[in-house]
Amino acid sequence: MDEMNTIWPFIGNDHAFNFLSKSIKANKLAQTYIFKGISNVGKTRAATQFAKILLCNSKNNIKPCGACLSCENLTTLKESNSDLYILKKDSDKKDISTEQVRDFIHNLSMSSFNNGYKIGIIKSAHHLNSSGFNALLKTLEEPNKKVIIILTTSSVTKIPMTIISRSQILRFKSVGQNLIYDLLIDKYKAERSEAKNLSHMCLGKPAIAIKLLENKEYQTKYINNINIFVDFNTSTLEIKLKKIEEIFPQKQEASVANLIAQKLIEAWLALLRDCLLLKFNQKIYVQHTMISEKLNTIQKNKSIGELLNIQTILKKSNRYLACNVSPKNVFDYIAINI
Ligand SMILES: [Zn+2]
Repeated sequence: MDEMNTIWPFIGNDHAFNFLSKSIKANKLAQTYIFKGISNVGKTRAATQFAKILLCNSKNNIKPCGACLSCENLTTLKESNSDLYILKKDSDKKDISTEQVRDFIHNLSMSSFNNGYKIGIIKSAHHLNSSGFNALLKTLEEPNKKVIIILTTSSVTKIPMTIISRSQILRFKSVGQNLIYDLLIDKYKAERSEAKNLSHMCLGKPAIAIKLLENKEYQTKYINNINIFVDFNTSTLEIKLKKIEEIFPQKQEASVANLIAQKLIEAWLALLRDCLLLKFNQKIYVQHTMISEKLNTIQKNKSIGELLNIQTILKKSNRYLACNVSPKNVFDYIAINI
């Protein structure tokens, strides 16, 4: 097991790592892989490590040597002279453009810098549009043994069957709270109380736990979103509407407002889940252990029906946002109804 830990230095999902290691050893590689599962459980990191192993120039092809030119380039991310290409959606765009897909495919068709493989990772591949999928499908229909493409996705239902049927699918699951707790203590030297809070808060997503630990600005924003939820459940409508004006000022850019609104709703749905768990005396599953007292007060003042109704309102709000209703209007709707 120790050897596996150095080949795949991540926690959880050993079934996927074992499978990939065995495929490499037996030289039985698929042309296309789909790593599916919820976001932030390490799909892209696993895909990158898989690529590093395959691209390593050393004779030992079980794990990356860390010293050859290919390993060095991949560690310093000198993508321009590596055989690994990563395709992902630009943060301000709605999807991955067809032009991006064409460039990606073109790069993969060029000859290799090193030992022969060209590897492409498509991050959150559900962001491809139909012409992007078609361009990709054409490449998959003319397989090249030295080209391997790995798609990661949290919404495999959005990937066309024509692509799924040509791919080896590996499922990534959320990681156990204990494993994340140990990781935060051993590798990131977190305090015990903080490791306990964050390992609960991240809901099985180690990357989120690490980000909350290392990025104080992210943690402050996250906690701020939590506090607004608590305030919302204890304030008058007038105060709630005032708060909404502060969160969504008039001159705010639409894309920024939309992102803030999405994050708020995501955080609030998780808090609501905690309130429901507390209602059913399931304290051990509560995500936000550090404010369980406050959440307890909220749930005590509401019936199960009322809590479920808030959940419905928040889910509806998510759909309104997706249909481009202004975030301020969506939150006014929430304020009036919860
Ligand atoms: Zn190497």
